Amino acid sequence: MAKCSVCGRPAIYVMRASGMALCEKHFLEYFDRKVRRTIRRYRLFNPHDRIAVAVSGGKDSMSLLHYLLRLSRRAPGWKITALLVDEGIRGYREYTVERFLRFVEEHSVEYRIVRFKDEVGYTLDEIVKIGKERGLPYLPCTYCGVLRRYLMNKAAREMGATVVATGHNLDDIIQTYMMNVLSNSWDKIARLGPVSGPGQHPKFVRKVKPFYEVLEKETTIYAVLNGLYTGFEECPYARLGVRWQVRRMLNELEERTPGVKYSLLRSLQTAIEILEKCGKVSTSGEEEEGPYTCAICGEPSAHPICRACQLRLELGILKL
Ligand code: SF4
Ligand code: ZN
Repeated sequence: MAKCSVCGRPAIYVMRASGMALCEKHFLEYFDRKVRRTIRRYRLFNPHDRIAVAVSGGKDSMSLLHYLLRLSRRAPGWKITALLVDEGIRGYREYTVERFLRFVEEHSVEYRIVRFKDEVGYTLDEIVKIGKERGLPYLPCTYCGVLRRYLMNKAAREMGATVVATGHNLDDIIQTYMMNVLSNSWDKIARLGPVSGPGQHPKFVRKVKPFYEVLEKETTIYAVLNGLYTGFEECPYARLGVRWQVRRMLNELEERTPGVKYSLLRSLQTAIEILEKCGKVSTSGEEEEGPYTCAICGEPSAHPICRACQLRLELGILKL
């Protein structure tokens, strides 16, 4: 069994790229150092931020909520709340919502749950069905991603949040990077930094990713060590998306060439710098143009009509 490179106790984590091994105690210290470095380096938070943690009930976002609650003991000006968007995915979301509710009640965290059904009138399952019947070309993750981001921003603003923290980890970021390379979407790549939204539309709440430099494997270990990883449910739609294939490809690559995920993150950071220098792409928001105010719903948008309203129009579920 590998021994901790710091203290010689049995290791629970070995970094294959560097050969460094860590026991439980030193893993948690390493994890904390890494996240705090990201928070400091990119100035993710202000001393008096009202932080809405976007939680799905999965291991990454639960770890983030747990981590920020701990960190907030050293940041008395912070106010932390939790925000969950329930898309309405049968056989999946109800379990993660249950786990979320157990956690926020145990830790006395203020929270809000926003449901597709209440806000849009339909669950994601119903929307996917309507999309199929209408012959629309979108995958479930497209409806889900667009509507979730839309509702999250709206709810966070209504809750008075000054910043939304999401549980995206390094793996998520480089997967998105690769997906955008495949679709030649350099404008989207320019916005893959750890912060999005400063200086954008006044109704847009700033979004930050504290786990930007943390591997998925590491958030999983953090979740296990803190009793947050009680099961693994997989969204029934996940395997239909391109992300699933990209994820598998990157994991295989990392297995054969340890360290390749960090290299890809560095490559992304260089790409962002180059794009910023070109000045052709704004890095300030989530979308391509704008900012506009959606002519239908009044929410911030990259186009005169926001993507959420466009999709709802195509689905025929928008009451005008
Ligand atoms: Fe939504 Fe796709 Fe994630 Fe499922 S896998 S929760 S459909 S984005
Ligand atoms: Zn709209």
